[in-house]
Amino acid sequence: MSNEDVAANLAAVKDEIATAARAAGRPAEVVTLVAVSKTHDAARILPALEAGHRVFGENRVQEAQGKWPALKEQFGDIALHLIGPLQTNKAREAVALFDVIESIDREKLVAALAREIEKQDRHPACFVQVNTGEEPQKAGCLPEETDGLVAACRKAGLDVVGLMCIPPVEEEPSHHFALLAEIAQRNGLHQLSMGMSSDFAVAVTFGATHVRVGTAIFGHRPPVA
Ligand SMILES: *Cc1c(COP(=O)(O)O)cnc(C)c1O
Repeated sequence: MSNEDVAANLAAVKDEIATAARAAGRPAEVVTLVAVSKTHDAARILPALEAGHRVFGENRVQEAQGKWPALKEQFGDIALHLIGPLQTNKAREAVALFDVIESIDREKLVAALAREIEKQDRHPACFVQVNTGEEPQKAGCLPEETDGLVAACRKAGLDVVGLMCIPPVEEEPSHHFALLAEIAQRNGLHQLSMGMSSDFAVAVTFGATHVRVGTAIFGHRPPVA
């Protein structure tokens, strides 16, 4: 896939989001496309920026630090989402660079972020990540822990706006999306980050306000060594 295809892929994904939203009786504008650029270099991200896209997702703090400060300077109004697991010792860097943190999954991290938010006076929007499939290897708090963690975020002064999930790969995602929507509703949270390349249209049907799409825009990622 060439870099020229990125803009075309981006447009196709946006079309598919709009179609799914219309079919669900939702305005397409309520769904934000987070273009997941992890593993891809600036040259590959540029066509998306030049096409006017401004919302991106990265899963590693260190990798994002290597490419986004320069791009943020060049294109002022970027919203950068952290979508990967966050170590407490990276809270400072994460608060400094990211505009949205989607992967809050434990109280210790809430405390570390709260300290940095106060220190830096930067206020990223926050999502609590829920391990809806209760998979042992996967990040995210358990569904039954979510209410408590959301309360802890609010108590610590975090700007908690919604929930995020990554359904198990081998399962039909819709019941995970429905579960996330239900947990969000009972917590008075209005934003739902769910849906990836293979299932973002389904997620839109189930109320996603953010879909995180990488492969369908930027092509396949090189396998991690
Ligand atoms: C990589 C990643 C995505 C994007 O996945 P694709 O299948 O490439 O669209 C979405 N969410 C998270 C948390 C990711 O790590």
